This record gives sequence, structure tokens and C-alpha cells, in this order.
Amino acid sequence: MILLSILIFLIVVLFIFLIIKTNEVNKGRIIAIENYENTSVEKFEDEQSVKKISILPLIESETIDDNLETENGVSYLISADDKQIILDFGFNRAKKHPSALLHNMEVLGKSFDNIDHIVFSHAHLDHLGGMHEQKTKTFSISQSNVETPKIPVYAPVKLQPSEFNPQLDTVHITKNPVSIMSGVYTIGNIPRYLFIMGYIEEQALALRLEGKGIVLILGCGHQTIQRVIERTKQLFDENIYAVFGGLHLPVLKKGHIGLLPIIQWVVGSDHAPWNGLSEKDVFEAIESIKAANVQLVGLSPHDSSGWSINEFRKAFGDKYVEIKTGKEIVL
Ligand SMILES: [Zn+2]
Ligand SMILES: [Zn+2]
Repeated sequence: MILLSILIFLIVVLFIFLIIKTNEVNKGRIIAIENYENTSVEKFEDEQSVKKISILPLIESETIDDNLETENGVSYLISADDKQIILDFGFNRAKKHPSALLHNMEVLGKSFDNIDHIVFSHAHLDHLGGMHEQKTKTFSISQSNVETPKIPVYAPVKLQPSEFNPQLDTVHITKNPVSIMSGVYTIGNIPRYLFIMGYIEEQALALRLEGKGIVLILGCGHQTIQRVIERTKQLFDENIYAVFGGLHLPVLKKGHIGLLPIIQWVVGSDHAPWNGLSEKDVFEAIESIKAANVQLVGLSPHDSSGWSINEFRKAFGDKYVEIKTGKEIVL
């Protein structure tokens, strides 16, 4: 009898929690849509472009080289002509020093001494260099002191350098679209309300590649690719030439269920866990990219399942590009 009473009590508590949570998510969704629609966006009037772009994943969940470490996070080194940008700092879940980011940079012969800009896509743990960093709204290259020059940092929300890299320059909050250097832009914040993680604002990088069009590079893709494409069309006259990075499609299918997609499926989605992202979301993402006539596509494995990546491979054929730690993409 006591056990039955406890069980009924727990069911009632769970039921009340779900009602409150669903109500909160529904309100959050409305706020995110309002904020998205109320952002004033003006076309970039400049015609600056870069002649050569390369994207080298420093951190990804898969690698082409066993000497490189993998993480369920993102850090990309982007070269635009003679300038270098780092997008995001990876996860460093084990709080190591040197972090996987530092280790991989050393193996790949890269250094912060040559970095011109640092950009954060959004303030989640797998992009800021750790859980503590997410909680304290900071970012860390590693978990001990790392000497760097002063480098301008662009983030979608207010972030501070952690005690381990205090010399990184004041953060520029790039809520609205802005050019950070010749031919390189952020497309501004696009908000989303996630079921577990709550409200998030994410930005993406856009580079104008001479003679080709706009190259989009995303972190987690919580914005949805549909909105990223819509925003990009508002900002540029050129076609979107390429889309690389996280599109957040951790769809669970038989034979492709790993811990990573399950975590991303639950915590990083705006769907409720009992009604998660589905095949339909993947096919809609593919259709929106095809409709924009994008010529090259690469999906980050850090927040999409093997099944989703395979569907992208099938849909885009030789236009599909693998994204793996240490595999440089040259455009
Ligand atoms: Zn992510
Ligand atoms: Zn995220």
C-alpha cells in the first residue's frame, strides 16, 4: 500500500513537472520566434571577398589521424586568404591540460600566435571549452595558463576570458550581423528555445568567396539551417556556395544509436524527448539546402547521427564533404 502511494505520488509529480516544462518551452518558443522576427537585418553593401578559404577542424568527434584527439565538440581553424580565425574551443570534458585543442594544434603545427580573430558560435559547453565555462559564461583554451597574444573575440552573448587565458581581448558582442574583416561576416544571432538547455542565441560565419558565393560555417546549428539560409539571403545578393558544420540532426535510427546522438537528441533539441527530431527534420534540412542550390555540404558528426550524415551523403553525392578532425577543406 505504501509502495503504491509512493508510485502514485511520483507519477503525479512527474506529470506536474511535464506540464510546467511544456508550458515553459511553449512560451520560450514564442519569445525566440518574436526575437528572430524583430531583428532588423540590412544587406551588407560592401563587395569585399576572399580568394581562398580553408577550413581545418581542430576538434570534431571523428578524425582522419590517430595522433589527433577527438571530442564531442567543435573547433575549426578557418583561413581566409592570409588571415586566420578560430571558431569555437571544443569541449575538454575531462578538464585536461593540455586540452585536446592544444594537443591537436601542436600536432597540426598551428599556434595562437598566428590567429587574427576568435569567434564563438554560441555559449554551449562543447564550444566554450567546458561545462564550467558554460556555467560561468567564460571560455578556456585549456585548463591551465595558455599564453596568447591579444586577439579580438566575437561572441553572440556576453562572455569573459577565463583565468587560463585572460589576455584574450575584450569580447565584441555580435548580436546583429557584422563584418569582422574584409569578406568575412557573422550573420547575427538567431535564437531558439531548446527543451532542456533553454534559450540560446547562435551565430554563424559567412565568407564571401570570390567568383563562387557565400560559404557558411556553423557551430551547432540550433538556429535550423532553414533560418540560417533565410538570414543569409537577407544579407547577401550572392548564392550560398557551401554549408559546413553542425546542423543539429541527431536523429536516432536502428544501427546508428550511440551515446552522442542520444545526448544531443535529448538536450540540444527544441523537441520534447518523447517526440524527438525525426527523419522528416533531416529531409526538410536537405530540401532547404538543395532549394538554395548549395554546391558543397559537410555535416559535423559532433551533433548529427551517422544515419543523418548518411542521408546527406546520399542526397548530395559528390557535393558532400566529410568533416573530421585534421581533414582540411580547401576552397
Ligand atoms: Zn555543439
Ligand atoms: Zn549547442
